[in-house]
Amino acid sequence: MDCIFCKIIKGEIPSKKVYEDEMIFAFHDINPEAKVHVLVIPKAHIPSMDGVTEENSDYVRHIFEKIPQIAREAGTTGGYRVISNCGPDAAQSVPHLHFHILGGEELPAHIV
Ligand code: 5GP
Ligand code: ZN
Repeated sequence: MDCIFCKIIKGEIPSKKVYEDEMIFAFHDINPEAKVHVLVIPKAHIPSMDGVTEENSDYVRHIFEKIPQIAREAGTTGGYRVISNCGPDAAQSVPHLHFHILGGEELPAHIV
């Protein structure tokens, strides 16, 4: 499958890894929008939030259980923001479910 995040999981595209276990992979965003900008992805190819089902939601649960540890190890100290863009209106650019962790500095006020 021609998915850049699946290739990052397999090591076919290099990345700066923050965390990995049997279900999920976390790495620094190539184009950071904050001092800390990490992406957390499931090791299953789920295209977006719209692809989350009863069969694969264990990946999402596991991601959220690990986000505090990943955010801490990536260097956040004063909190962080978690975002998942889904579909064209949200400008999702990579069609493999991912959660942005943004922090490491005071973030701008946000639409949400
Ligand atoms: P989206 O816009 O889909 O919510 O977020 C996709 C993110 O993936 C963007 O922030 C973009 O910088 C990041 N990205 C795209 N290609 C790569 C890559 O090859 N390596 C890494 N580390 N990040 C990537
Ligand atoms: Zn994928």
